[in-house]
Amino acid sequence: MTRIEDISTPRRTKEIIQRHGFSFKKSLGQNFLIDQNILHKIVEAAELDETKGALEIGPGIGALTEKLAQTAGAVTAVEIDQRLIPILKEVLEPYGNVRVHHGDVLKVDLHELFRTDFADKAKVSVVANLPYYVTTPILMKLLEEKLPLENIVIMIQKEVAERMAASPGSKDYGSLSIAVQYYSVPKLICTVPHTVFIPQPNVESAVIRLEVREEPPVSVPDEGFFFEVVQASFAQRRKTIANNLKSRFFPEKGRERLEQLLAEAEIEPSRRGETLSIEEYARLSRVLYEAGIR
Ligand code: SAM
Repeated sequence: MTRIEDISTPRRTKEIIQRHGFSFKKSLGQNFLIDQNILHKIVEAAELDETKGALEIGPGIGALTEKLAQTAGAVTAVEIDQRLIPILKEVLEPYGNVRVHHGDVLKVDLHELFRTDFADKAKVSVVANLPYYVTTPILMKLLEEKLPLENIVIMIQKEVAERMAASPGSKDYGSLSIAVQYYSVPKLICTVPHTVFIPQPNVESAVIRLEVREEPPVSVPDEGFFFEVVQASFAQRRKTIANNLKSRFFPEKGRERLEQLLAEAEIEPSRRGETLSIEEYARLSRVLYEAGIR
């Protein structure tokens, strides 16, 4: 394979951008990586090899895509910005194992894309430096659609990564932690300084790896209802679980009934949502569901 100078050097990135007259769009979360070590760390965390596929969301000018092409058997990249498509074509020209799709990943039929692009791949990872304005919708789409993924390695806002990996009792623990941990096992890989991007983002960044679970860690009567109970329990963080659940599920009915059901689920009404484990939320949603509370 012809090796060209890696594009993730500040000099080459600037050269490509200038030659194509490209201007960054803040509204699309365009902060491009220019640091070889960070790119290497991201790709390494996905544990790719030639038998595996990699889906990249938002390839930009292809810095990470190029590293993925050198490591995985097949790479598919979905980019929303039409102006980047000719640049990607040029940069990725030496690699025969890369496909670039123009589109909004939130609108793409990913199951169909997996069927066409990764049919012969044993395992697939998502590897991306995500646009921060749309991190949670993209991640929830990947997890909720139950794609056949091995892991997801993403660069995101540090504060969001900490919320995803948080344990009960910590200030970062909330409905995002529970949603992410229901579908995966998160691990923070590293925090990342502003200087590895152009332009530099205003927030701190981190790389997180989510090992996608084959089965959820708890059994719930109905996934939609389970997540509704979780959302309701965090509606107002300073309120007790009893008060939050009362506002959402028992607006007129007596508090006595709610306290009975909480006792059945072995949860003290005075606790706050942030202290309950995922197992306790599963138990609580089962008791409420079986009592006909929706
Ligand atoms: N991967 C490149 C890198 O690391 O240098 C660029 C990462 S940049 C943070 C995010 C990229 O996602 C941009 O190229 C942006 O145009 C693209 N993007 C933003 N919203 C998107 C969406 N909804 N679907 C697909 N790509 C999107």
